[in-house]
Amino acid sequence: MNPINEIRGQAQEKEVAPRVNLSPKENRFINSLKSATPIDWEDWTWQISHRIRTKEDLSEILDLTPEEIEGIEGCGQKLTMAIPPYFASLIDPNDSNCPIRRQCIPVKAELIKSDHELEDPCGEEDHSPVPGLVHRYPDRVLFLVSEMCAMYCRHCTRSRMVGEGSHKRKTSHYEDAYDYIRSNKKIRDVLISGGDPLMLSDEMLENIIKNIKAIPHVELVRIGTRAPVTLPQRITNDLVAMLKKYSPIWINIHFNHPKEITKRVRFACELLTDNGIPLGSQTVLLKGINDKPYIMKKLMHDLLKIRVRPYYIYQCDPIIGSSHFRTPISSGIAIIDKLRGHTTGYAVPRYVVDLPGGGGKISIDPNAIISQNQNRYVLRSFSGEEYTHYDPI
Ligand SMILES: *Cc1c(COP(=O)(O)O)cnc(C)c1O
Ligand code: SF4
Repeated sequence: MNPINEIRGQAQEKEVAPRVNLSPKENRFINSLKSATPIDWEDWTWQISHRIRTKEDLSEILDLTPEEIEGIEGCGQKLTMAIPPYFASLIDPNDSNCPIRRQCIPVKAELIKSDHELEDPCGEEDHSPVPGLVHRYPDRVLFLVSEMCAMYCRHCTRSRMVGEGSHKRKTSHYEDAYDYIRSNKKIRDVLISGGDPLMLSDEMLENIIKNIKAIPHVELVRIGTRAPVTLPQRITNDLVAMLKKYSPIWINIHFNHPKEITKRVRFACELLTDNGIPLGSQTVLLKGINDKPYIMKKLMHDLLKIRVRPYYIYQCDPIIGSSHFRTPISSGIAIIDKLRGHTTGYAVPRYVVDLPGGGGKISIDPNAIISQNQNRYVLRSFSGEEYTHYDPI
């Protein structure tokens, strides 16, 4: 069955009454869609089945650039385009560099493979004891439960496996994954990711969480998702009530730009935190989108305002066709340097590089140690001055 129909069929809840007033942008957008109502807009399954997937549909809401037209025509085999109407309504049609637009509309540069780019840059497949499970660190695993996402980010690290076509690599060998976790007593933390786990129905997701929680040595269940940003309608009362039953569950949300934090996103995040679900964020450092320290700082501040604790900023992994997004590592270091000490510690995430070849994540900080001579350290303060520290001998 078509996965979209499957989801529509499986979504039991029908609590679709508008919970957030439409913004002027959303209103304008909804009026431009034939026969859509505010009730449809609130229904995540409607958003999924009305995603913008073709050049023709997209041309109705904005003027595509030649680079975009080539990108859309060429991206099919690689990573499909799919944009929920809600997310599309955030695009500034007059700005071809709009950060929302660049994350969801393919461009020609995506079709170019540059040096050092790989299909699976972080070596996840090599650390997969069973399909869909990545076991790299001693005490935790990454469990890829879905290949589908609400929106396909053009910079996606897992473009090798996400989408709705036929993939070489399958995610959903759930039973094998449970067996593996059960037989490895060192695993105390399971990170459920994908694709997007929130593209599963509440019932399917609950079943996964229940199976994992039933393993005695698993202390922590985490979910990695982008749905609260690209499809905030997905955070329904029913979903939250289900997650609440399995507390503690930590959720990490992929946020890349302050423009993503709308009233509706705030509503979704508040519903989660009000129900005892701690939220963190992860951000991919993207050239021309969020690589300026002032934009990153605003994003981090805006996240704290909606009670999301910044967790990681990722260096953009060298996946195939990502060179137009990738910044030098020095950009990431400069961002941390402009945050640390200059603003609230909670607003300072770790800047992380997932090592190509499967070495795992390392965090990189601006260098604070200017020199060391036996027990004498010369250290650099946040404002760039030198201070001397003496270790006990
Ligand atoms: C990122 C990741 C995790 C989680 O890492 P934390 O640093 O604990 O958040 C676990 N497994 C794999 C394979 C990962 O890539
Ligand atoms: S939501 Fe995550 S997994 Fe899905 S396309 Fe975006 S980056 Fe990739």
